Amino acid sequence: MVNTKNIRKSICEIGKLLYDRGYIDASGGNISVRDGDKVYLSPRQSGEHHQWNIEEDSIIVTDMCKVPIIGDFNKITRESVSHYYIYNAFPEVKAIVHAHPPYMMAFGSAHMDIPAVSEGTRCVIGTLPITNIEESVPGSAQQAERVVENFKQRRKIDPECGLICNIPFHGVFSAASDLNYAFLYVEVSEINCKILINRQIMFGNDPRADLSIHHQITREEINSISQDKDVCEVGYRYKDPYGNEAIYLGEGQKKPVVPNVTPDLVSKITEEVLKKLKNS
Ligand SMILES: [Zn+2]
Repeated sequence: MVNTKNIRKSICEIGKLLYDRGYIDASGGNISVRDGDKVYLSPRQSGEHHQWNIEEDSIIVTDMCKVPIIGDFNKITRESVSHYYIYNAFPEVKAIVHAHPPYMMAFGSAHMDIPAVSEGTRCVIGTLPITNIEESVPGSAQQAERVVENFKQRRKIDPECGLICNIPFHGVFSAASDLNYAFLYVEVSEINCKILINRQIMFGNDPRADLSIHHQITREEINSISQDKDVCEVGYRYKDPYGNEAIYLGEGQKKPVVPNVTPDLVSKITEEVLKKLKNS
């Protein structure tokens, strides 16, 4: 569980989670969070030297031009260039994860786009395939520009899509409104790639396999997922958990409605009571 109130703690927790799940390895990966005009960064070599058991005090805080406010300038990750470029291009982005998820990287190492085939990916990131930037020198301004350009293209096609891209032979960048979502984008995309790879291994050569998508989910359909929906027809009569007669009035109803006490109901109850008394 991420404590979004404590940014340093959140970065340490998410770093460990990414490492334990194999989404980042000891050779790299980094995390940042923007809070107003400050950027909090995981320190350089968190995997190589600490296997992501990093202390909250090791988190570096800078301004938007990478000038340190708290922490050592030499400890700022070389990948930070891409983080700052993304923050400066997308004011709504508050957290960034750079990871090395191996199943996603398999696609990157073949320069292949990643189609969305899992419900998680389609609903969280959108149906737009995850694409590769051109091969770039890690940590370079060129890589940062290409990541930003990739994200701008995604938003041009689908303004509500999740921001994540692949870097061939290297890893991925994920950017979101908070650290939970930056992590989520990496996780659902990696699982999506596991499905694609397993599907190919298991059914790739089976002529009976149908690998096509029969229902392309629209943005409207995705947005409708979170809406409340009736599960009973309005006017439906049923018994509430206390055995009372109740009527369902429709979406938004917070508690069962017991019908008005009518003369009919009174005589029915009286009959029932008298019957019980006779039998007792
Ligand atoms: Zn990397």
